[in-house]
Amino acid sequence: MFEKILIANRGEIALRIHRACKEMGIATVAVHSEADAGSMWVRLADESVCIGPASAAKSYLNVPSIIAAAEITGAQAIHPGYGFLSENARFADIVEAHGMTFIGPKAEHIRIMGDKITAKQTVKAAGIPCVPGSEGALETEEEAIAAAETIGFPVLIKAAAGGGGRGMRVAQTPDDLVEAVVAARNEAKSAFGNDAVYMERYLQKPRHIELQIIADSFGNVVHLGERDCSLQRRHQKVLEEAPSPALSAQQRADIGKVVVDAIKKIGYLGVGTIEFLWEDGEFFFIEMNTRLQVEHPVTEAITGIDIVREQIQIAAGLPLSFTQKDVVFEGHAIECRINAENPRTFTPSPGMITDFHAPGGLGVRLDSALYAGYVMPPYYDSLAGKLIVHGRDRAECIARLKRSLGEMVVAGIETTIPLFQDLLVQPDILSGSYNIHWLEKWIKDEAAAGS
Ligand code: ADP
Repeated sequence: MFEKILIANRGEIALRIHRACKEMGIATVAVHSEADAGSMWVRLADESVCIGPASAAKSYLNVPSIIAAAEITGAQAIHPGYGFLSENARFADIVEAHGMTFIGPKAEHIRIMGDKITAKQTVKAAGIPCVPGSEGALETEEEAIAAAETIGFPVLIKAAAGGGGRGMRVAQTPDDLVEAVVAARNEAKSAFGNDAVYMERYLQKPRHIELQIIADSFGNVVHLGERDCSLQRRHQKVLEEAPSPALSAQQRADIGKVVVDAIKKIGYLGVGTIEFLWEDGEFFFIEMNTRLQVEHPVTEAITGIDIVREQIQIAAGLPLSFTQKDVVFEGHAIECRINAENPRTFTPSPGMITDFHAPGGLGVRLDSALYAGYVMPPYYDSLAGKLIVHGRDRAECIARLKRSLGEMVVAGIETTIPLFQDLLVQPDILSGSYNIHWLEKWIKDEAAAGS
């Protein structure tokens, strides 16, 4: 087992990884930008190294600085968390070339899944059903028109290198098509430096349901069930729950088997998430994330498995500590992504936290690096913390979540806590009948009613 791990990330996920390391008896090295010097994960880590100025390009994405920090502190492995360098195959190669372990999949699989076109081709060949779409990248206008005619309108143009919901455009009719392709291409070029785009059927009322998988180097592959991440704004997740209110145990077992068989064929190693859209009882693959996900704690809550601990063990060459038969789903869990944002306009609200109180009690977990007196810097994403609540069933979970949100105090900045309080009284949320378009419509209706 590793004796020391460098955590190449910040905020709540840096703290989350630190916690797993400490419980495993592993020393931690935090890296941080100048703006993050006083942060809680830096204070709690055994050692810390400043890797550059506030700008992420010069700090959390600064590969030479991170490698140098690992070398001078004698770290044997680097955990990239999510975002930043976590899906950068070149970084994984560089870490390994310096004689350290990248805690993640093989660089080869990061590359395959990082391009959504090759990802779709790869998983399709391994038996996973995909959203009907273009065969590969769209090169010409004629190709786009021909593909749309086969697929049927409306269609969605997506960036091959896409992420964070960017580089996506809907074309409702043939008249919108060329403009949608050009707009998606331009956004993809500026966001990812790669203007390759492809086409999918635009699903009207799907849920976003994703499967968590974990694979060791001994050929063991296990799925940890699904997460329902249908509550989204701008194609980004806002609240996640496990299990999905829409899936039966049989449907879960069936898709679990398809996914596990495919992952075995692909030879994937480590933790990963297979994302699907689910409509009328059918699963359609959209992408695979080759890293730890923000929403992993809801799976931990219903399985009792520490996913980060298993991820570290696998990276150290050890086998999984459980088999598929050992995975039992108990109760229901919901995670709220609490952002430092205005709860109606979603304008970021960084700044000084003047007062802070964490909710607690049975089944309540708060993953957050906030504390009273902390100044949330404006340079990074606005995630202030994740409140994860577990109950014996969905109703108990929701009651506990409402109670916890009511206890939580984050003063000095605006947060999305009031948004969740408003959502958790909506009949559709209480009954679990919502799809990926529900939240956008609700926000629009609320804005119209308020104006
Ligand atoms: P990203 O990598 O940018 O997150 P994804 O492919 O994971 O992009 O899609 C993000 C979200 O966009 C999905 O959860 C869903 O809400 C929406 N989306 C993606 N593909 C489709 C589609 N074919 N039809 C309808 N919505 C889609």
